Amino acid sequence: MQLMFLSHQVTAVHEAVHGWFGNLVTCAWWDDVWLNEGMTTYYTDLTLLDIQAWTRQNVRDDINARRYKWLKENWMFALHDETFVEDEWATNVYARGPAVLQMFHKAMGEKFETRLFDYLKSNLYKNVNSTTFINALTKNNESVEREMFNSFIFQYDAPLISIIYDNDTKAFIISQKPIHSSRNTKWTIPIWYQRTETETNSEEMRWLRAADEKLMIPMIEDPENYRFDQECIGFAEYIIEIGQDIALHCSSAAEWSEIDFDM
Ligand SMILES: [Zn+2]
Repeated sequence: MQLMFLSHQVTAVHEAVHGWFGNLVTCAWWDDVWLNEGMTTYYTDLTLLDIQAWTRQNVRDDINARRYKWLKENWMFALHDETFVEDEWATNVYARGPAVLQMFHKAMGEKFETRLFDYLKSNLYKNVNSTTFINALTKNNESVEREMFNSFIFQYDAPLISIIYDNDTKAFIISQKPIHSSRNTKWTIPIWYQRTETETNSEEMRWLRAADEKLMIPMIEDPENYRFDQECIGFAEYIIEIGQDIALHCSSAAEWSEIDFDM
């Protein structure tokens, strides 16, 4: 309901944000239309947050609603997608785009914003593609961040992350496989976790890399006090097994409502 109430405001802000993403810097071809629409959708949400129309929870609800729609209907499409199937592309770029950008942003912190600003400045009135974006955001360096961009921009589907607590080694063992496909696709994805026993524990981040079989987080004595990706920012679903308890996380937690994707 809140989304409907705010829909005119969202549209007005969305079209204004296109001044930067789409008008000032434009994708060279439709296969990278996410650079216009995904970016604009994400910064529309953040702008609404800045002008106090939305809370941070609104932003997350909106992005998650879009993400679940994509996971349900459009997982066969990558962000950079040459097939460009009519009627399918829209959900892909409007849904997967902002959800993946939100993860990139949190994983890189302030560096994401400063490099995105540089990307805009150095490409004024030019045409760009996904590689232009990745080069700007990584400053042309090979890095774990480049692995993350490549795996989430050029591959379809998304990771199903398995987190199992091993009692013998006192470690969380984290591995991945695709949610839908039977292919051997792997992603480089940030894994956020937090020990919640006291409020002063801050959130930590580790990388599960595409090239690695698994990630181990050792020296865990009280696994039941740990929470993974509490903000639901990772573009993934999680199965968490601690002893006899198995929890599904970020898969069906958020409800999604009908959203008009054609803006
Ligand atoms: Zn648009």
